Amino acid sequence: MSIHSAEIICVGTELLMGNTLNTNSHFLAQEMVSLGISSYRQIVVGDNEERLAEQIKESAQRADLVIMTGGLGPTTDDITMAVAAKVAGRELVFDEDSFHDITEYFRKMCRNMPKNNRKQAMLPEGCTIFKNHNGTAPGAMFDYACPSEQDPDRIVKFVLLPGPPSEMTMMFNEEVRPVLEKMSDTKFITQFVHLFGIGESEAAERIGDLIDSQTNPTIAPYAAEGECFFRITQRVEKNEEEKDLISPLIAVMKERFGQCIYEIGTRPLKQVAFDMLLEKEMTVCFAESCTAGMVSSEFVDIPGASNVFMGSVVSYGNKVKSNLLGVSDDVLDNLGAVSRECAQEMAEGARKLLGTDIAVSITGIAGPTGESATKPVGLVYLAISDKNGTEVKEVHLSGNRMRVRRKAVLHAFNLIRMRLS
Ligand code: AMP
Ligand code: MG
Repeated sequence: MSIHSAEIICVGTELLMGNTLNTNSHFLAQEMVSLGISSYRQIVVGDNEERLAEQIKESAQRADLVIMTGGLGPTTDDITMAVAAKVAGRELVFDEDSFHDITEYFRKMCRNMPKNNRKQAMLPEGCTIFKNHNGTAPGAMFDYACPSEQDPDRIVKFVLLPGPPSEMTMMFNEEVRPVLEKMSDTKFITQFVHLFGIGESEAAERIGDLIDSQTNPTIAPYAAEGECFFRITQRVEKNEEEKDLISPLIAVMKERFGQCIYEIGTRPLKQVAFDMLLEKEMTVCFAESCTAGMVSSEFVDIPGASNVFMGSVVSYGNKVKSNLLGVSDDVLDNLGAVSRECAQEMAEGARKLLGTDIAVSITGIAGPTGESATKPVGLVYLAISDKNGTEVKEVHLSGNRMRVRRKAVLHAFNLIRMRLS
């Protein structure tokens, strides 16, 4: 059978009450897009037998595939497997292999298996079982006969996955996706083009002709905080020859956006900056005033950051700027901490103090207080210093205090990218 449509049901009272963010829907929806399966609805249902059964039946009326996550645990409120099996008219039967996997899981963790975990080995008869390499609950796939007026033999696929995102995503990627790929008629190839230094509307306007004229691939603009990106999606029908229709479009985009494009793919800006530093075997440090450590903290999210990142100075107060970084009293007294000259001296001082190849400084007015007639909220100076000299950039950032600071962080990474490219 081929699958064209899906509905995603996430089960759990904690989702309904807002205690847990529903990241499973977010993940699965994207996976459906890349599989060429249309998502019709995303639904959240609490751990309630009646409402869950009702929802499963309703979704099955509309979609070829009903994916459920959550409620596969060992406790009494975990009812998804039993409810979905009952809807499909299947008995739960004890699966020896799954039980073995569950006992092994506990053995490896040096824990005694509670009695109620046996429940997780009770699976609908005749189902496809998905192994859980990250936890105890196996997943399952089985058919539900759901006749419609047009098709009395209509079959709907049920896929049940565990709730914890680490278990669910691993199971989906390794075991479910390959099965679904075989059932989809269309394949979607996706590429992302990330830009910095240009707003979403301006960017979309610049390639308006491409966006309007394309049917395959399609180009969709997205705005993210401080940056924007395009998703290019090419459909390839099954049995159709797979031609590369994306590269020619990217070539045109490169012509029109030039240096604004920082990534063709999925790397975030900081990763691009990190990869450049690593490739050139250069070290970096930061002198942070208004970001007060955010740049450094973000940067060390990257595994292996220690290969290039040496340390930073959070020079929030003027005394630290002058005592540690050597910013002159003249600059601080006459031009102020938020000035071109201060940014320059901060970067140069940090580079000297920490002995790195490159230093980046950030000083600005995050707001909502602290602005003056000549220095509005959102004014930020950044400087980058290396053996060839120091370059200062003035930017005007919009938004509240947090947004100004977050955008300043991106500018710091972008300065590194521009300097090294
Ligand atoms: P369960 O399989 O229902 O026992 O879920 C176990 C845990 O997985 C829950 O306590 C949540 O923390 C997490 N979880 C369940 N469903 C979701 C979801 N849709 N998105 C993110 N986390 C979830
Ligand atoms: Mg639950």
